[in-house]
Amino acid sequence: MLNEKYMSLAKKLAEAFLNSTVLTEEPMKAHTTFRIGGPADILIEPAYCDITAILHLLKEEDVPFTVIGNGSNLLVSDDGIEGVVIALGKKSGEISISGDTIVAEAGALLSTVANAAADAGLTGLEFASGIPGTLGGAVYMNAGAYGGEIKDVLESVTVLNADFEKQVYNPKDLDLSYRHSALMEIGGFVTDVVIKLTPGDKDEIKAKIEEIRNQRVSKQPLNFPSAGSTFKRPEGYFAGKLIDDAGLRGYSVGGAQVSEKHCGFVINKDNATAKDVLQLMQDVDDNVYNKFGVHLTPEVRIIGRNIN
Ligand SMILES: Cc1cc2nc3c(=O)[nH]c(=O)nc-3n(C[C@H](O)[C@H](O)[C@H](O)COP(=O)(O)OP(=O)(O)OC[C@H]3O[C@@H](n4cnc5c(N)ncnc54)[C@H](O)[C@@H]3O)c2cc1C
Repeated sequence: MLNEKYMSLAKKLAEAFLNSTVLTEEPMKAHTTFRIGGPADILIEPAYCDITAILHLLKEEDVPFTVIGNGSNLLVSDDGIEGVVIALGKKSGEISISGDTIVAEAGALLSTVANAAADAGLTGLEFASGIPGTLGGAVYMNAGAYGGEIKDVLESVTVLNADFEKQVYNPKDLDLSYRHSALMEIGGFVTDVVIKLTPGDKDEIKAKIEEIRNQRVSKQPLNFPSAGSTFKRPEGYFAGKLIDDAGLRGYSVGGAQVSEKHCGFVINKDNATAKDVLQLMQDVDDNVYNKFGVHLTPEVRIIGRNIN
């Protein structure tokens, strides 16, 4: 049962922000591609124009909040998330294109932005077309694939800092490296992203997107819920190959399984819990370390109550 403080906060939020959606005790499994996660006390899908005021209200009420994009790199605790989850992937995704520049709200899906770039005859974002996240999540993670990374195409990133002031960053100042950004250390809420691309041939751009899509379909277990690559690539190795060579292809704990199709992915095969996935990740790391002396570190972000 939601406590009185959160009941009254949810009411206040719903009354004050009519263009945003406010949900209580909302199962996070409905907001993650892993389809795992207990309830958020409150989940809000904010209209872009409401974001700053919502954050001010949460600060006044001294309520913890967590920002998510499309939930495609998240493992959420079975005990859910304390406080307010601000989910940007639904209502804060406007984009506009002018010349070779795309200005987008952080909740825009990479697939939408990549397709819009293709329609406008702009090349450089094809690599991102099949990554199922938002631009904000992609900046936070410095998402990348097929030889490209989001840092390669960024012109600027607008972040709401701890005082909820907008700060425009040159991407060079965000320490963007392999699945890392300075936002992981300094915090902050990405609200807007400016991308600079290069004019190219529309048909070639669309063909590249299609080629990447086909590669993903043939190599990745897209018919099962997952959060993509579970572990980061250890220097000099591939996580999937180490896991395979350790004999863990298809290894299961409860409903979670090392994908038979791609050992770098843990899939939710049958109503897996976060506990199943965490145990499986621990087992995989232990086995790989015992065999090859290499530790695997999670690429997925593990969040929520009682996660230590
Ligand atoms: C099938 C599949 C394939 C994938 N393939 C790839 C791939 O090829 N390459 C790759 O890099 N990733 C891949 N991923 C992982 C994932 O899609 C990326 O990490 C993506 O960038 C996450 O974006 P998101 O919006 O879903 O973020 P979320 O998963 O919602 O959040 C991830 C982190 O970003 C933070 N965050 C989100 N939005 C913001 C914001 N606006 N401001 C500040 N912080 C924010 C969250 O707090 C969280 O810590 C894949 C995932 C799946 C399921």
